[in-house]
Amino acid sequence: MSPKVYIGGKLYEKADAKISVFDHGLLYGDGVFEGIRSYSGKVFRLEAHIKRLYESARAISLVIPMTQADMCQAVVDTLNANKLVDAYIRLVITRGAGSLGLDPRKTSDPQVIIITDSISLYPAELYESGLKIITAGTMRNHPSALNPRIKSLNYLNSILAKMEGTNAGCLEALMLNHKGEVAECTGDNIFIVRDREVHTPSIDSGILEGITRDAVLEIAKSAGYKVFERTMDRHDIHISDECFLTGTAAEVIPVVELDGRPIGNGKPGPVTLDLHARFHRLVRGEA
Ligand code: PMP
Repeated sequence: MSPKVYIGGKLYEKADAKISVFDHGLLYGDGVFEGIRSYSGKVFRLEAHIKRLYESARAISLVIPMTQADMCQAVVDTLNANKLVDAYIRLVITRGAGSLGLDPRKTSDPQVIIITDSISLYPAELYESGLKIITAGTMRNHPSALNPRIKSLNYLNSILAKMEGTNAGCLEALMLNHKGEVAECTGDNIFIVRDREVHTPSIDSGILEGITRDAVLEIAKSAGYKVFERTMDRHDIHISDECFLTGTAAEVIPVVELDGRPIGNGKPGPVTLDLHARFHRLVRGEA
C-alpha cells in the first residue's frame, strides 16, 4: 500500500503529496515541525508534542489554522489511514506560499503536513555497546538569534554539526552553546550520571525541551534517583560515570566515548540501562 500523506485536511498518495515551490517553508525554512512516535497504535505524549508545536509556531508568529484538539485527531486519523501501529510521525507546518521576499505578511495559507513512516532507529547493537560521539566545532544556535526551544524548519545548525560527526565516523555530535557549555546533541538531549545522580543541561543552556528528556526526568525521579537540571561543561562529561542521549527516535541510548576518551569504564552503565528499561515499560504502559 502506498503511504498516504495528510496535507491541509486531505490525504494524498505519496507521489501526489506536493506543496508550492513558493512556500516559505522551502524558500526560507520558515515553519515548525514535530517528530512523534506511536507504540502499538497509541501515540506517545501526543498532547505534549502538539503543545510544543503550537508554542514553536507562536514564537515565530505563525498561526496554525486548526485547534490543538483537531491536530491531535488529524495525527491519529493519518496513522489509521496508513494502518500503522509502531510508527514515526513527522508533522510539518509551513508559513505558506508567498512572494520571493522574506516578509511573512506576503504569504498565505500555512500548510499542515502529516507524514507517517515506519520507525528507523540507531542499529540495535549500539544500545548494547553505546555510541561514540565527538564535540562539534559548530556551536548551538545562540538563543538570542534563533532559540533552540523553537523546533523550526531551519535545521542547518544541527545539520552542520551532524556532518562533523559523521565525517569523524560518529552518528551523533555534542554541541556546546555560545558560552562553551554543554547544550545537546544534533537531534538528541544529553544526560550524565555521576555517583548515581542524574544530571542534564537546563533549558536555559540553549536546548530543545525534549519530550523524551521530560519523560526520563520524571522516570528517574520516581525511581528514586536524584535529578539535576543545571549548567554543564565538557569536564562534567569526562568525569562522569555514565552518559546517555534521549530523543523520540533514539529513546534512551548510552554514550561510551566523547572525543576519543572513554566515559566511565567505556561501557553502558547500570543507571542508563535501568532508565532505558523503565522508559520501555513507560511507553508500552502508556500504549
Ligand atoms: N534536541 C534536538 C535538537 C532535537 O531535534 C530533538 C528531537 N529530534 C531532541 C533534542 C529530542 O527531543 P524529543 O525527545 O522531543 O524527540
